[in-house]
Amino acid sequence: MAKRIGLFGGTFDPVHKGHQSIAEAFLNSGFIDELWVLLTPYPPHKQTGNKASYEVRLEMLKAAFVGFKNLHIKTIENSLSKPSYSFFTIRYLKSQNPEYTFYFCMGEDSLAQFHQWKFYEEILNECALLVAERPGADHKDVEQKITEKTYFVEHTPLEVSSSHIKQKIKSGKPIDNDVPDSVSDIIEKEQLYS
Ligand code: ATP
Repeated sequence: MAKRIGLFGGTFDPVHKGHQSIAEAFLNSGFIDELWVLLTPYPPHKQTGNKASYEVRLEMLKAAFVGFKNLHIKTIENSLSKPSYSFFTIRYLKSQNPEYTFYFCMGEDSLAQFHQWKFYEEILNECALLVAERPGADHKDVEQKITEKTYFVEHTPLEVSSSHIKQKIKSGKPIDNDVPDSVSDIIEKEQLYS
């Protein structure tokens, strides 16, 4: 059987326990053999605000996923043309690995917005979606042409998001429950988000 690859993209600013948990859910779903985590560069129009550099986000991502079997972190979007559109990334990865079957993985909140993504119909022509539950999101209003190409993955959702973590740091609240220790060490060392 062809190797099945899940592609899971994000800005991971910072990566958190919700990302670890959803990655675990994709890997245990039985749909994929490997998960490729794609670190996305910020698009030029989103350069302002409280953002960590690509390099530091990569350092945090590597720290968070140490020991995760069959998970690979990929920086390919940093070398493809920008802004990064998932469709072009998928097409590129398929051209490089024609023997693999790809699934595009996301949290349920992203599915609700998916019809607003550039080239979303083209993405659906390239691969199926794997979607894991996320608090505050549901898919009852998602168009059928999307849901018919979607597989839902069981996941016990964690109430955590990167933006909430940044707010907590800004207001001096602890983030120990939200990120692994290795990531909070980097946040502290680099004095991020304060
Ligand atoms: P932000 O708060 O800035 O929106 P985020 O926490 O959603 O950030 P991203 O890097 O944008 O982090 O997310 C990458 C992917 O991880 C998306 O598909 C998103 O749906 C998913 N995701 C993030 N947090 C969770 C969570 N707690 N549970 C399930 N999926 C999540």
